[in-house]
Formats: sequence, structure tokens, C-alpha cells
Amino acid sequence: MENKKELRTWLDKLNLDHPLVVAGPCSAETEEQVLTIAHELKDTDVNYFRAGIWKPRTRPGNFEGIGALGLKWLQKVKEETGLKTATEVANRAHVELALEHDIDMLWIGARSTVSPFIVQEIAEALKGTDKPVLIKNPVNPDLALWLGAVERLYTADIKNLGVIHRGFSTYDKSKYRNNPEWQLPIELQNRFPDLPLILDPSHIAGNRDLIFDISQTALDLNYDGLMIETHHNPDKAWSDAAQQVTPESLIRIMKDLKIRKETTPEAEYTLAINNLRAQIDVVDNQIIDLLGKRMIVADGIGKLKKSNNVSVLQTKRWNEILGKMVLEGQEKGLSEEFVLKMFKVIHQESINHQEKIFKSNGR
Ligand code: PEP
Ligand code: MN
Repeated sequence: MENKKELRTWLDKLNLDHPLVVAGPCSAETEEQVLTIAHELKDTDVNYFRAGIWKPRTRPGNFEGIGALGLKWLQKVKEETGLKTATEVANRAHVELALEHDIDMLWIGARSTVSPFIVQEIAEALKGTDKPVLIKNPVNPDLALWLGAVERLYTADIKNLGVIHRGFSTYDKSKYRNNPEWQLPIELQNRFPDLPLILDPSHIAGNRDLIFDISQTALDLNYDGLMIETHHNPDKAWSDAAQQVTPESLIRIMKDLKIRKETTPEAEYTLAINNLRAQIDVVDNQIIDLLGKRMIVADGIGKLKKSNNVSVLQTKRWNEILGKMVLEGQEKGLSEEFVLKMFKVIHQESINHQEKIFKSNGR
């Protein structure tokens, strides 16, 4: 980790021998809560203490943050524990107050990244700051919006930038609160290889039991850091209760995560192969996901054919699909033999699905 890059970015310059760790509650609730958690995180690998002061809530009527008063509590955290501090800013007034209170790192939330007007306002308010600013991915899986926000901040001469991957909302049922869509941050990292990439497993998971696994995948993909919501009494938290971990669990998670920091040639190989394998895992999951979706569509076709009394097997249509896919496959370096074999089994599975529908009761 340490020798992975030259000392080019603000993060490299911190010279950490482990990925950056940002931890603290979803929301600052009371002075006592903030200080209790901060003291439990002191003398651990945690580098920045996070707490939301202004909370963007999807529906009104939920706790919307303690406001500027919380900035004083964060100052106290720094005085008492030496931990650097971080909070979310969502407009010009937030930026001005956070800078006045010397908050060390700021982030732009997922609901702000979707709005070029807001991102522009924040960028102008931050103009020229040398504090690290992290941009969370937009709520929806739109890489262009995320890239656009990065470009707006770079253009405002904010040099110490980073991005946070917090997952993307979806209507599909999923075990995640926000789908990771790993291919999007990987693509962003390809475009901006020097931009530190930090994972927020808490908002991806929505549930504390998934945090370890998601974090390990990110480290295998060479992420530069983690932001994990941590609360001394998670079940009683005023926001995001199900996904917060205790400081004790956080320490356990950090201890158990495999962080590859050795620099021997062998370790470099391990790092490289793990990175590639993690990328393969991401793609394999996408393949299964897509095949699942294909079968749902096949079920729909089955129902339609049944109600119109049309036969399952449509040879002409099938030969057309095969011909098209062989050509597409050639362009992607896939042999004709492979494409034909693969589509034969996919087709068989679709027919099985449709047969099942034909044999089920009802029209
Ligand atoms: C948060 O970090 O508490 C938060 C509101 O996150 P997001 O912008 O990712 O929803
Ligand atoms: Mn939260």
C-alpha cells in the first residue's frame, strides 16, 4: 500500500501504512455521543472522524441534523483526541461554516452530486482550498454525473480531491441498500488513476452484517480507503441505525481485513492477481445477474405465447439470434464455437422456463 504510488496525492503524502480509515456516526446527535465515539476511536487506525451535521433525508420529518452547533463538537473531538474531522457540505453556507470551524475534510453527498447547480455552488465556495474534498457517487448509476462533479471541482482549483463509492439506488430487489455496481468506480479509476478511491460500505450495505465482505472486495480492487459509519449504540442511532457498527466491531473489521502492504515481488504478484480476480468476480456476478434478467423476460414471453396458443420453439427467430450473436462475439474476440455452445445452453434454459409456464395451471 505504502509504496503503491509515488507521493503524488494528498493521501499518499499522509504516508499511511494501511488504507485511509474514516469512521464516526452517520449523524452528530449530542455532544456527549460525538465525544464518546471519538474517544473510542482514538489510538486506532482511524484517521478521520466523520459525523453528519446537515442530514439530507429522503423524506421530511426525520432527523435533519443538529446544524452548525455540531461543528463545535467536531472541534472538540480534534482538541481532545487529535483525530482529524470530516463532514458533509451541501451548499455555500455549509462550506463557509465548515471552513470557519476548520473541519479538516469535506465531502459532497450522493444527493448533491446529482445536481450540477449544487456541485457548482459548492465548488465556487471551496475555490482554492487545500483541504481534501471527497465526492460521493450520485444516487443513480450515472458515471457522467460523477465525472462531471470531479471536473467542476478540479476546474475550481480544488486540488486535493478524492471520490467515495457508496453504491447506487435501484428498483430491483437486492440484498444491498444501494447496489455496488463495481464497474462504475472501476471505470472512474481508469479515467482518473491518481484520484483516491474510498469505499463507503455502510451505505452500500444498509446492514452491518455485509460491511466486512464489501470492504474486502474493495481492498482486493485496490481501493485507497474506507468510510464506515460507527456509533457506540448503533440500534439507538437517530439515522441509519441498521448499518452502523460499534467502535469495537470496527476495530475487529480493520484487524480481519486483508490489506496487502508487503512490497516483495511475490507480494506484488499477489496484489496484482487479487485485483484481477476481484475484477473477474465482479464481471461473473454481472453475468449471473444478466442471465437471471434474461430468464425473467423469457418467462414473460412464455406467458404471452401460452395465452395466444403459440408454440414455445420458434426456429426462425432462434437462428436469427444465433447469427447476430456470432458476429457480435467475433468483434469481442469470442470464437464461433464458444458463442454457439453458450447460446445453446442459454436457449435450453429459456425453453425450460417457458415449458414450465406452459405446464403450470391457469391460462
Ligand atoms: C452519509 O454519509 O451519512 C450520507 C448521507 O451519505 P450519502 O450521501 O452517501 O447518502
Ligand atoms: Mn448515513
